[in-house]
Amino acid sequence: MIHNEEFQEEIGNNHIATSAVTPLRKDAFDISDDEKIERIKKDVESILTTLGMDLTDDSLKGTPYRVAKMFVKEIFGGLHPNKKPSSSTFENKYKYNEMLVEKNIVVYSTCEHHLLPIVGRAHVAYISNGTVVGLSKMNRIVDYFAKRPQVQERLNIQIVEELQKVLGTEDVACVIDAKHLCVNSRGIRDIESSTVTAEFGGKFKEEKTRREFLDYIKLDTQF
Ligand SMILES: [Zn+2]
Repeated sequence: MIHNEEFQEEIGNNHIATSAVTPLRKDAFDISDDEKIERIKKDVESILTTLGMDLTDDSLKGTPYRVAKMFVKEIFGGLHPNKKPSSSTFENKYKYNEMLVEKNIVVYSTCEHHLLPIVGRAHVAYISNGTVVGLSKMNRIVDYFAKRPQVQERLNIQIVEELQKVLGTEDVACVIDAKHLCVNSRGIRDIESSTVTAEFGGKFKEEKTRREFLDYIKLDTQF
């Protein structure tokens, strides 16, 4: 693999994911959240100062800390494995072989190539083998993986793999329809376009089942 700036620019601009696993270092959680906030605060201070901003201005004074806390506790809070939603499931034999669809789950994520928002909807489905999860669990799983520096395809795969694990079945699918602010607000500035990704596991690879799922969700992204 070629590792030069031009190549990395190309990967970023084309939003190519290099792996389905979030590329974290082994020492990612060796320091505490408070220590991370302290370090990032200094980094944000440095960025704004380099840009020529006057950080003694009342409006800017609190920005470095505010951004640091937001990164660690909120928008990138899903990096920490401890934050993963617990996977309580229920037995429900009446749901056996039935397709359950939860559509229009709100997705707020961050493009890891530009650190700008990805905003959209996820539609998740599974065919129960007798095990079901609470609907809010699907929201929480989407939100957990969304709160990372992300690539939409990777987010999609991570949601499906997690639900497959929790439900003990391959029959899980997820479609995400989202706007990337790095595309909508800068670069090509295409405000209308959205990106659709899909991951179909097990029976959802079959045309008939996939069709049924897509008919249920009838894509219509609104904000
Ligand atoms: Zn981007």
